[in-house]
Amino acid sequence: MRILVTGGAGFIGSHIAQAYCDAGHEVAILDNLSSGHRENIPAAATLLHHDVRSNEAAEAVRDYAPEVINHHAAQMNVRVSVDDPSFDADVNILGLLNILEPARKAGLRRVLFASSGGTVYGEPETLPAPETAPTHPVCPYGISKLTSEHYLYYYRRIFGLDYVALRYANVYGPRQDPHGEAGVIAIFCQNLLADKDVSIFGDGLQTRDYVFVQDVVRANLAALDSEFTGAVNIATGRETNVVELYERVKEHVGGKGTAQHVAAKDGEVRRNVLDVSKAQEVLGWAPRTELADGLVSTVDFFRTRS
Ligand code: NAD
Repeated sequence: MRILVTGGAGFIGSHIAQAYCDAGHEVAILDNLSSGHRENIPAAATLLHHDVRSNEAAEAVRDYAPEVINHHAAQMNVRVSVDDPSFDADVNILGLLNILEPARKAGLRRVLFASSGGTVYGEPETLPAPETAPTHPVCPYGISKLTSEHYLYYYRRIFGLDYVALRYANVYGPRQDPHGEAGVIAIFCQNLLADKDVSIFGDGLQTRDYVFVQDVVRANLAALDSEFTGAVNIATGRETNVVELYERVKEHVGGKGTAQHVAAKDGEVRRNVLDVSKAQEVLGWAPRTELADGLVSTVDFFRTRS
């Protein structure tokens, strides 16, 4: 299959692009390298070095005429979305439309979209949150991800374009960027390996659902081959709080750094954990990697880099 992986120089997209190349697909990557890195790009993939919002990107997509777009390019920082909602909407919503239109006209059949199970439900009323839970995002990033899903639904209804919105929980693993605010596991690894302290916001009892990147890759392989169209959670169904996460990373890394509690962040969701039964049903997918094993691979990656 001819596949365009947007954001394929980034953390999650690059692992997916590698798996698609390994499976024998023809892969091009559309990425402006704003947070991605050239060295993440698989040797067998071609780089289309453009911003998703640009005319050049629209032309390159039309010329490449992908059968499938796997869309991972995004502004993915919740805090940035709060500070600059227009920028978030520009990249995440208009960027998607800018490439969907030419691709559709050039014969696109299917879109796999990196959505966010951590934000589209807002503060979920039911935990673990199923896909049928009300969607009331409480940050612009969650709104832009949900709006993108609505556009994909529209394209399906009007143009028969299949899609799968993969609603990821908190993804972690090798290559995650420890700079900035996302990726608490990457930040803990990097700081503790450098004998630096880490910050825990508030009491640290806020919970998230941490899914390993190679499990996310398997979901993207399954979604490529399935007939399913719609939204599906990709997570573990297990809740871990930040204090526990710190203790687990510290156990593997050791070092002199300790945890310092600092003021809680405004607008942070208290608990998030996702129901994964639908993924088993519609994609034949279930998470395989225990947090303990995923943390070992992640710590090893950061250790060899430090
Ligand atoms: P990342 O920052 O490593 O990857 C994003 C990639 O998109 C980078 O390579 C970046 O250079 C590229 N990019 C950004 N803006 C672009 C633009 N305007 N034009 C072209 N390329 C652009 O982040 P990631 O963690 O790998 O996230 C990938 C996707 O998964 C994003 O859509 C994100 O919203 C989604 N997601 C991530 C998580 C997570 O826990 N990391 C959870 C839910 C959803």
